[in-house]
Amino acid sequence: MKTRPNFLIFTDLDGTLLSETDYDPGPARPVLERCRQNSIPVIFCSSKTAAEIIALRETLGNADPFICENGGAIYLPLGAFPETGITTRREGDYEIIEIGTPISRLREVLRRATAKTGADVKGMGEMSLEEVCDLTGLKEKEAILAMKRQYDEPFILISGNSEALEREIKSQGFTMTRGGRFFHILGGSDKGKAVRILSELYRKGAGHLLAAGLGDAENDLPMFRAVDRAFLVQKPGGQWGSLPHLPNLTRIEGVGPEGWVKAIDSLLNETGYG
Ligand SMILES: [Mg+2]
Repeated sequence: MKTRPNFLIFTDLDGTLLSETDYDPGPARPVLERCRQNSIPVIFCSSKTAAEIIALRETLGNADPFICENGGAIYLPLGAFPETGITTRREGDYEIIEIGTPISRLREVLRRATAKTGADVKGMGEMSLEEVCDLTGLKEKEAILAMKRQYDEPFILISGNSEALEREIKSQGFTMTRGGRFFHILGGSDKGKAVRILSELYRKGAGHLLAAGLGDAENDLPMFRAVDRAFLVQKPGGQWGSLPHLPNLTRIEGVGPEGWVKAIDSLLNETGYG
């Protein structure tokens, strides 16, 4: 067993580490354990809220930093890094680096952009608990955590043109992206920015580390651009999300966690953990 890892894993959750249908890591569980035994950080990088990711880390026994709400914030367990100088607040057992724009501002921009383009959308902030459960397939307890949004508003498009809406949101200096189930509006943050900041913190202490990123959808593109090796897993049905060609990107044959396992197994073998 190596004492110091020589790579970092950034991973999307829904549709990647977790199955899109039942939110379970299935065959990835023993591989997560193997990473833990080898002290290889597995950093969850998701559109999920901090509340959801904290609950999931407990279930899966993960103790690494994480990135929530599509790069809105980085949560560092207390004491994980000496004096970063860039954390903005403390919450429970975490120090937080905030990158995103407060949710109230995002909701206001979304409202204005839809009025201007004539699109009809419904943001998670306007949905009942029941609607969120129906749309996501989450149980009530989990949906409550999913609704604790701080830096990213997921929404559905009821009618109208998504491209026109995206142009309008962009012209206001904000970002619209698409995850597995929802569109999202964000301001000033994306997964890539957060991945770069956190990789930097790790490299300060350890020199060069290979950063790997795993995802399934368009909102993973900024993360793929910020890592050395990127892996795109298949969606249910065996299709890959439509992403542009990237020189560091490998398309893995395997849906969600099945593809995740293949990618990580090959990396572990390649880097001497086999
Ligand atoms: Mg995903």
